[in-house]
Amino acid sequence: MKEYQQYINGKFVKSISSEVTKVLNPCTEEVISLIPKGAIEDANRALEAAQEAQLEWKSLAAIERAKYLNKMAFVIRENRVFLAKTLAKEQAKIISLAQVEIDVTADYFDYNAGWARRIEGEIIQSDRRKEHIFLHKAPIGVVVGICPWNFPFFVMARKVAPSLITGNTCVIKPSCTAPNTIMEFIKLIENIGLPNGVLNFVCGSGTIVGNALTKSPITGIVSLTGSVFAGQKIMEAAATNITRVSLELGGKAPAIVCADADMDLAVNAIVSSKVIFSGQVCNCAERVYVEETIYDEFMDKISKKMAAVKVDDAFADNNPDMSSLVSKDQIDKVEEMVNYAKKEGAEVLIGGSRLSKFDKGYYFEPTLLANISQNMQIIQEEVFGPILPVMKFNTLDEAISLANDCEYGLTSSIFSENFNKVMHASNELQFGETYINREHFEAIQGFHAGWKKSGIGGADGKHGMEEYLQTKVVYAQYK
Ligand code: NAD
Repeated sequence: MKEYQQYINGKFVKSISSEVTKVLNPCTEEVISLIPKGAIEDANRALEAAQEAQLEWKSLAAIERAKYLNKMAFVIRENRVFLAKTLAKEQAKIISLAQVEIDVTADYFDYNAGWARRIEGEIIQSDRRKEHIFLHKAPIGVVVGICPWNFPFFVMARKVAPSLITGNTCVIKPSCTAPNTIMEFIKLIENIGLPNGVLNFVCGSGTIVGNALTKSPITGIVSLTGSVFAGQKIMEAAATNITRVSLELGGKAPAIVCADADMDLAVNAIVSSKVIFSGQVCNCAERVYVEETIYDEFMDKISKKMAAVKVDDAFADNNPDMSSLVSKDQIDKVEEMVNYAKKEGAEVLIGGSRLSKFDKGYYFEPTLLANISQNMQIIQEEVFGPILPVMKFNTLDEAISLANDCEYGLTSSIFSENFNKVMHASNELQFGETYINREHFEAIQGFHAGWKKSGIGGADGKHGMEEYLQTKVVYAQYK
């Protein structure tokens, strides 16, 4: 069993607290590693190291900083199989998907390295003679990145890569549920020559370590990916020093299927978006609205598809579609929400229970629910499991208003062969992302950002990189 330490100022160091947190393999419930419980002092030490390192780091040419990002990408690719296995084991992600996450993370570092020569300001016309108004994009300072367990490795890169290329230094707090791949990555990059203090990793709970990182006056911006609840707590703590926040929070993505949709495409896209990582994905379809005239045919097709989903151990060689949920807490929540939906009148067409064939682990059946109405909890609250509630609609405007009737606004999708309908819907849907005739999943060069309670700010692409820059204006008068 591995035991990890905090990584501060270029060294693995003991936490001030001697207490540890156990990390489990969700498929077997075995303890696979121990991480420090962490302490406020650990957070402060890491922030101080990052603050000191930033003075020199920001003065490097961006192209020099980019070289470190390229080295990280190289190290990830060299160790891609080891990292994928580590990831699959700590969070029950099927090995093929874990491999995709590792490979995309390497691409993410390279992609952000590519911004080195494109971080640009502006020169604005002055109202005065002989004056230039220069608009600079400066690094903010120290970035705190707080990560979730669902795509822990990729989300770490989503914070580290744009922060470092823009001249910030970082303190990352991994999730206590899935920290191992991140901690192994630090060991792998120890020899790439990154200056001490540029990148620090502190394990610990959100309420103690996460809170201390957020409240510190050293912190320039807190970038959280996590639940709405954690986002609210971070906004409260960030108010202490009016610290900037960038929040990627939960979702409750609607998928709208019109009568003129390519039905097989819609069924395949919705099911694959729901079973990917057992539905524990912020952007995956969480509720489906189907036009009444095709409802029966759609339900027939999607029932067959959901019933055919293969569930097994993350490493099983029969190529499963999904595996165990990540934890006991997660399966308890999913089960409770399905039972509550049943009480509210939902009809279970497929699944609906824990999978009893496994002695260990947190396996839940792919579940299809009918007889759903808009005010049910299962339509309004994020489930984060392999559960699909389906509702009928009559007109597209009704579907759009049902989709918008929700406090989340992360992603949405529409399936229709009619150009006017998809354009109208993509204009009216109040979601940071709308997918037309395809599964829910974003690209690294896009911009992943939530409306309403799904967040503030966003990640990826040029706009995600600019999240880590402070705009500064210099008025230069000359003779
Ligand atoms: P979580 O909110 O429980 O934890 C996320 C992180 O926040 C953890 O590192 C946790 O320790 C930390 N945290 C919790 N309370 C905190 C506090 N008071 N102060 C500082 N840090 C605190 O979320 P999770 O269960 O790890 O992840 C699942 C959630 O993340 C889902 O709601 C999902 O939709 C969301 N998510 C969103 C995106 C996105 O891009 N929008 C991506 C992945 C996951």
